[in-house]
Amino acid sequence: MRYSGLRVIAEGLSGNRGWKPAWRNPDPKPAYDLVIIGGGGHGLSTAYYLAKNHGLTNVAVLEKGYLGGGNVGRNTTIVRANYFLPGNQEFYSHSLKLWEGLEAELNYNVMHSQRGLINLFHSDGQRDAFARRGNAMVNQGDDAELLDREGVRRHLPWLDFEQSRFPIHGGLFHRRGGTARHDAVAWGYARAADRRGVELIQNCEVTGIDIEGGHVTGVQTTRGSIRAKKVAIIVAGRSSQVAAMAGMRLPIESHILQAFVTEGLKPVIDHVVSFGMGHFYISQSDKGGLVFGGDLDFYASYAARGNLPMVEHVMEAGMTLMPMIGKAKVLRAWGGIMDMTPDGSPIIDKTPVEGLYLDAGWNYGGFKAVPASGWCMAHLMATGEAHPVARRFRLDRFATGHLLDEEGTGSQHNLH
Ligand SMILES: Cc1cc2nc3c(=O)[nH]c(=O)nc-3n(C[C@H](O)[C@H](O)[C@H](O)COP(=O)(O)OP(=O)(O)OC[C@H]3O[C@@H](n4cnc5c(N)ncnc54)[C@H](O)[C@@H]3O)c2cc1C
Repeated sequence: MRYSGLRVIAEGLSGNRGWKPAWRNPDPKPAYDLVIIGGGGHGLSTAYYLAKNHGLTNVAVLEKGYLGGGNVGRNTTIVRANYFLPGNQEFYSHSLKLWEGLEAELNYNVMHSQRGLINLFHSDGQRDAFARRGNAMVNQGDDAELLDREGVRRHLPWLDFEQSRFPIHGGLFHRRGGTARHDAVAWGYARAADRRGVELIQNCEVTGIDIEGGHVTGVQTTRGSIRAKKVAIIVAGRSSQVAAMAGMRLPIESHILQAFVTEGLKPVIDHVVSFGMGHFYISQSDKGGLVFGGDLDFYASYAARGNLPMVEHVMEAGMTLMPMIGKAKVLRAWGGIMDMTPDGSPIIDKTPVEGLYLDAGWNYGGFKAVPASGWCMAHLMATGEAHPVARRFRLDRFATGHLLDEEGTGSQHNLH
């Protein structure tokens, strides 16, 4: 079924009885050409581009829970292409271009909203760093504008410009940055992959990876064994646990990141705003809730819920930046399990096991990467070659020292 305005009107007039489920609900077959472990944003987009770009449709996505129940439906939805380092720049630039055509591509309203992202700076040194970043973004073909204090005030008059601890000196404005509805992205890719013949199998946890003579041959699941010629591990915060099933120890630690949403308010924040000193970022959802978050909880954990010290820290940062937020009531808070790499950059690569692939290490920034990650992972699995925009996301860079240390936080990215 194709979605369209006409269809909505026709269904509205006929009692909405014609809508079909957005995807099938098949039982697993004994064998597939390719099996993807993980039905999050990255697993679903990989499945879609395997079918769409490479004509590979004998593919199953195995999801232990329900589609979109992981981080893809738990994030603060910021989409941007403002990375600094070669290796990251071209990848996120490619991703943003895919976002810009995503709704037409998937025939699904993912509510991508390019409302602009403003990263605030609070010192001369930070301004210089953002100026360099902005120049790098423009060189890459993306957009960036350096705003002075008055420039920021024109866009965000409600910020506290008088506070002396972290005075606002200006901001880096990325007009094509914005947000999207996170779980709609999972649903859109799921529906589009299903329409091309991919089988999406929910409530199917992978419990083992079968390897014979150094080749992957299939997986063990809670719904029986499934043979496969190629298997991809795309499970975000569970990457280390699933890779351990193949005898691998990954350079990844799992940490909690929390998000918060207030009650619905009238439109007040037009942009995405990021506080350069407090690790605080905020936008307003189309339902009116202020959506915001901060830093990691600073200890490794697999619990998808956060702890109170970080709640306090995030609220303090919000109050420092925009005291008016103190009047809003927090409605909901939750946590997601982040797959943190030592350099803060991801991995899209083959593994030492023939036919076993890894897409992981998205840290707390993998939502914006969903389209390009799927595109590049599908390319790798179909052709055996790294896609040009993802060629630096190698697993062996931690052994060879070719790190992609985007934030300059050294080898303790997860503790910064
Ligand atoms: C609070 C928060 C805020 C964030 N904010 C942003 C942001 O603003 N912008 C941004 O770009 N990124 C953001 N992120 C990061 C982003 O959400 C993640 O990097 C990204 O979603 C991870 O990829 P995924 O969607 O494939 O993960 P997931 O949705 O977690 O998918 C992995 C799937 O694998 C499944 N799985 C795990 N183990 C198994 C198994 N053994 N068998 C079968 N299935 C299994 C899980 O159930 C899960 O559904 C944020 C994350 C959080 C938690």
